[in-house]
Amino acid sequence: MDSKIVILGGGESGTGAAILAKKRGFDVFLSDSGKIKEKYKNALIHYEIDWEEGGHSLERIFSANEVIKSPGIPDKASLIMQIKERGISVISEIEFAARFSKAKKICITGSNGKTTTTLLTYHILKKAGYNVGIGGNVGKSYAWQVAENDFEYFVLEISSFQLDGMFDFKADISVLLNITPDHLDRYEYSFEKYVESKMRILQNQTHDDHFIYNADDPVISEWLKNKHTLPQQHPFSAKVETISGGFLKDKKEIVININNVELKIDTMEMTIQGIHNAYNSMASGIAARLVDVRKDFIKQSFSDFQNIEHRLESVGYVKGIEFINDSKATNVNSTWYALESMTKPVIWIVGGQEKSNDYSELIPLVQSKVKAIVCLGKNNKNIIKAFKKYSSQIIETTSAEDAVQTAYKLGSPGDIVLLSPACASFDLFENFEERGHKFKQAVYDL
Ligand code: ADP
Repeated sequence: MDSKIVILGGGESGTGAAILAKKRGFDVFLSDSGKIKEKYKNALIHYEIDWEEGGHSLERIFSANEVIKSPGIPDKASLIMQIKERGISVISEIEFAARFSKAKKICITGSNGKTTTTLLTYHILKKAGYNVGIGGNVGKSYAWQVAENDFEYFVLEISSFQLDGMFDFKADISVLLNITPDHLDRYEYSFEKYVESKMRILQNQTHDDHFIYNADDPVISEWLKNKHTLPQQHPFSAKVETISGGFLKDKKEIVININNVELKIDTMEMTIQGIHNAYNSMASGIAARLVDVRKDFIKQSFSDFQNIEHRLESVGYVKGIEFINDSKATNVNSTWYALESMTKPVIWIVGGQEKSNDYSELIPLVQSKVKAIVCLGKNNKNIIKAFKKYSSQIIETTSAEDAVQTAYKLGSPGDIVLLSPACASFDLFENFEERGHKFKQAVYDL
C-alpha cells in the first residue's frame, strides 16, 4: 500500500482527502502555497494532520508515494511537473475517495448545468427516501463525507479538472450535459483537449453501467460517432424522439422513457424554466429512473425544486422592471441560454474577465432581444467590438451599483435587466457569488 500521501491545497477537497487518508491509516501531509481558511485548519488540527501554508516543503512532498492535487492547481504548474518527473502519481480527491466508497455513483459533468443537475438529482433521490449523499463541487467534499459516513448512493458534480486526475474511477451512471468552450487556458487553448477531458467521464464504464448524454450537442455526437462506448446509452434531446432516454416535445412536455416505462411532465409544472433546464431535468429524471425512483416522486420533485442562487434568479421588480441575477453565467454558452429564455426586452449587463470568448453566436439574440448593453468589467474592448453594430447603446461601468443604476435608467416598465456576464468575475470581484450579491444589493438599494 502507498503509505505516504501528500495533499496539495487546503480547501474543501484537500482537507476532505486529508481526513479520509488519515482515517485510513496513511501518513498524511497537507501543503498549501497560500493561506488555509480557519475552518479547514481547525479540522486538520482536530484530526492531528500535519500541514503547512504559505509555501511548499519540497523534500517532504517529493518523498510521497502519491499526491492528491486540488483541482485549482494546473497540471502545468512547475511543482506538479517536478512531482511527475519523479514518477509519483498525482490524482484528484474524487479518485482517492472512490477507493473507499461502496456507494453507487451518479456522476454529472458538462460545461454548464452541473450544479443544477446535481442538486436536482439529489433532490429527487432524497424525496424518494434513498440513502443518498451529494458531493464533488457542491457542498461538503466527497472525500470528507466518505471519511465520516458512506451512503448507498452518491450524486457527484465532476469538473474537468477533477476528471484529469481520475484514472481507475468508474461511474455507475455518468451524465454528460454539454461541451462548449470553457477553461481553455487550462487546456493549452485546445478545445480537443478539453473535450477529451470531459469524455473521461466514460472511462472504465462497462456494459452494466449507464451513460446519459445530450444528443443535441454536436460535439458529443461527433465524438460518439467515432468511438466505441460500452455503457448503455440514454440520450436526451429537444429535437429527436429517443428510444431509451428523454425527449422535450414542442418545448412543452418532457417525456422520459426508461425500461419501457414512460413518464410525461408538462414543463409549466416545473420550477426551473428554459430549454437548458429542460435538458438538466431530463438528465436528472433519466438518472432517477435508472435507479428505479417511482414516477410520482420525480414529478413532485420537479414541481418543488428550489432554484439556486445566481442561476437565472429573479431578484424582483422595481417600477415594473424585472431584475435577474445570472452571475454564474461565466461563459458564452450559459449566457446564450439566458438570453434565449428571455421573453421581454432586455438590458443586458455583461463583461468581466474573459476566457478567449467568441461572442459571435450571441449576435442574433442581441439583435432580437437586447435593447441596451451595460458593460461591467475592467476591459470591455472585445464586447464593444463584437456588439457595437448591433446595439444602439453600449455603456461601460466598473461596479455592480453603477451597472444596476445605469441599466435601471435605461429601462422602462416591462423590460428585464439581466446580469449574465459570459465572463469570469475575478477582475472586479472575489468570485461570481460576490458579483451576484453586489448586484442584488444594488437592486434592493434602488
Ligand atoms: P455549472 O455547475 O456547470 O457551472 P450551473 O448549474 O451552476 O452549472 O449553471 C451555470 C450557468 O449556466 C447558469 O448561468 C445557468 O443558468 C446556465 N445553465 C444551466 N444549465 C445549463 C445548460 N444545460 N446549458 C447551458 N447553460 C446552462
